[in-house]
Amino acid sequence: MDRLAIVVPCYNEEEVLGMSSEALRGVLDDLVNKGKISPDSFVMFVNDGSADKTWSLIEEEHEKYPAQIYGLKLARNVGHQYALTAGLHTVADMCDISVSIDADLQDDVSVIEGMVDKYHEGCDIVYGVRKERKTDTFFKRFTAQSFYKLMAHMGVKTVYNHADFRLMSHRALKAFAEYHEYNLFLRGIVPLIGYKTECVYYDRKERAAGVSKYPLKKMLALAFDGISSFSTRPIDLILTLGFVIVFLSGLALIYALVSRFVTKVYVEGWTSLFISVWFLGGLQLLAIGLVGKYVGKTYIEVKHRPRYNIEKVLTDDSSED
Ligand code: UDP
Ligand code: MG
Repeated sequence: MDRLAIVVPCYNEEEVLGMSSEALRGVLDDLVNKGKISPDSFVMFVNDGSADKTWSLIEEEHEKYPAQIYGLKLARNVGHQYALTAGLHTVADMCDISVSIDADLQDDVSVIEGMVDKYHEGCDIVYGVRKERKTDTFFKRFTAQSFYKLMAHMGVKTVYNHADFRLMSHRALKAFAEYHEYNLFLRGIVPLIGYKTECVYYDRKERAAGVSKYPLKKMLALAFDGISSFSTRPIDLILTLGFVIVFLSGLALIYALVSRFVTKVYVEGWTSLFISVWFLGGLQLLAIGLVGKYVGKTYIEVKHRPRYNIEKVLTDDSSED
């Protein structure tokens, strides 16, 4: 039977923690009764350096339900992505299946069953995808959607309308642990792992209690992190711009020479100045872009990402003795 670990990052979630714990314990009980997961399945609350009573509430819950509620306390606030990573790394060797979910009950906990079903059908990664964003404000919807579009333009593979509500199998967690890069953007990394994946769809609800811990500033930082951790396309844009401007300076050269020698409409000294400004500007962009290409390559190398992840090897066992 498969042991499920539900990983929940929590930052100042005292208002909602009790509710979360109850809802998730309900899910565990239900799935155990249906024989879909083993009875030693658990919820791992990760306290991301909360300044309120979150950790003492986790301790209380653990005391009341020691078999079902586990806790992990980070020494300081490191942010959602790292808190979740810490949780996933910690449970990797304690479970067969992990599900990550936010503490605020915005993601539909009843969908976890659907995720586990997909796992039993052979999926290693199951993404929770929001059907619509009815409950989000227009602003949040607009910024989030522009973000997914920009990511796609920049060549970063992400799952549209999927946040960090997902199931990962034990071997997917193991593969994930091979990514040692410092700047972690989980939604970009997980699709790199491979294996059979699927999506389950749900309606995202309002926060059960408390306020969002993702103000605009953190959202922009996440967006920039996502792009700059996965794509060197901005550097390509500089290089392309350099080429375009050098090409235009060629046209400018023709135009200036014609003005100087054919139509003879010109101001003394203007021809050389005009051409130099365009040509040198283009040349500089070109040079910066070129240097950038090497910086980009170094960046990719420094990450030391796994280049492949082997799923299966077929060999002839009988040849061994
Ligand atoms: N969170 C965290 N560390 C932080 C900020 C947020 O662990 O520094 C957790 C938070 O407790 C919640 C999840 O990340 O479980 C998502 O945050 P939130 O619901 O505030 O974001 P939103 O849904 O508004 O985008
Ligand atoms: Mg939320």
